[in-house]
Amino acid sequence: MQIDTDTFWLAAVVLLGALMAATMALAIAAARVRAAARRVHEQQTQHEGMSNRLLENEYRLRAIIESEPECMKLQAANGTVLEINPAGLALLEADSPGDVIGKPIYLFVAAESRDVYRDNVRRVFAGESVVYEFRLITLKGSSRWMETHATPLRDAHGAIYALLAITRDITDRRLVEERARRHQSELAHVARLSTMGEMATALAHELNQPLSAIAAFARGCTRRVRAGTTTLAELNEPLDAISEQAERAGAMIRHLREFVRKRELERVAIDINLVVRSVAQFAEIEARQHATRLRLELAGGLAPAHADPIMVEQVIGNLVRNAIDAMDEAHSPCREITVRTARADGAAIGVEVSDTGPGIMAGLVEQVFDPFFTTKPDGVGMGLSISRSIVESHGGRIGVRSRPGGGATFGFTLPVFSQEVTRDALAHGVRR
Ligand code: ADP
Repeated sequence: MQIDTDTFWLAAVVLLGALMAATMALAIAAARVRAAARRVHEQQTQHEGMSNRLLENEYRLRAIIESEPECMKLQAANGTVLEINPAGLALLEADSPGDVIGKPIYLFVAAESRDVYRDNVRRVFAGESVVYEFRLITLKGSSRWMETHATPLRDAHGAIYALLAITRDITDRRLVEERARRHQSELAHVARLSTMGEMATALAHELNQPLSAIAAFARGCTRRVRAGTTTLAELNEPLDAISEQAERAGAMIRHLREFVRKRELERVAIDINLVVRSVAQFAEIEARQHATRLRLELAGGLAPAHADPIMVEQVIGNLVRNAIDAMDEAHSPCREITVRTARADGAAIGVEVSDTGPGIMAGLVEQVFDPFFTTKPDGVGMGLSISRSIVESHGGRIGVRSRPGGGATFGFTLPVFSQEVTRDALAHGVRR
């Protein structure tokens, strides 16, 4: 019986122990479940917070894009418009987003701007941010000039999935630029006409030479033919000389006619040394009449410049004429003008015109390029101002160095001709 009691207590203790262990295990499991539930809840709240924040951000971004006064649009690589804001729709004179979204942008880009546009889209999808100008035809048929800043949009893995473009209407700016350009070419034309007046006197004198030579050769031929003392073969030489002199005179007149013709800026690849030589042909006549020596120091192996040759001639001609005037007025004992060409800093070609005149008075150096600044009794003060606008319209710079009493050196630069320059010129509607 004793054994039975012991067994009972033992069983009771074991049972109690097992019960306690089970209760503890349950409590631990319950605590774990509670902790897990808490974590899930926390994560859920966090997640909700995050998606709320994402939604908020998206609303904010949308509000910004919608209220943005400039046109903002997303575009695919093939030119399809993915999204566009109301300002963009207004720019395109569209009545609803459906008029534009899903359509290729090239429907609205003017034919002559399409290559530039396509090229820039390609650059954006290759990872570049670009700025370009193009002409747009709206849905109602108006023509407007646009400037676009475009940048690639990337997904979480860094792949470019769209182009984000901000576009603004620059038609008014273009019109002002166009008017200024026309005004400048008119001014330059007037200046060339007045230059022609001065050149005509010198040219009349110079044309005398070939014309007298032609007359003399022709008289010689007639004399010989009349006297019957010549063979036809013997007449070849004087007749060749006559044609040569007539061609020389013709070339001078042609050149002068081209110089005074009214024209737009026409930029091409030019050999600057040829242009300098062509000006020198005329300038030399005038220099000689003022007891001035004209020297050329032309660098070899220069790259071609991207410029309008007649306009560049006008600038060099102005600088040479000013040098002659300055030395004349100051009665300079030594009168020499040197026209130099050289490679300049950056992708540029430099031209310099130096003289041995009085130089420019200290304090006036800054003013000589101002319109209507002149120290000459019969000066107009437009020569240097026109020269500066011509050089700047080519993307070059003009300046002067002067030592009072030691002569003045005027120098300007022109960009080197390259495919890049040509593409820019096309993008900006510059005629070549
Ligand atoms: P203009 O020849 O009608 O005076 P420009 O604009 O060509 O007009 O020149 C403005 C002024 O710059 C001249 O009146 C003169 O005072 C000064 N200048 C220009 N070139 C020289 C030079 N080579 N040496 C000294 N002064 C010069």
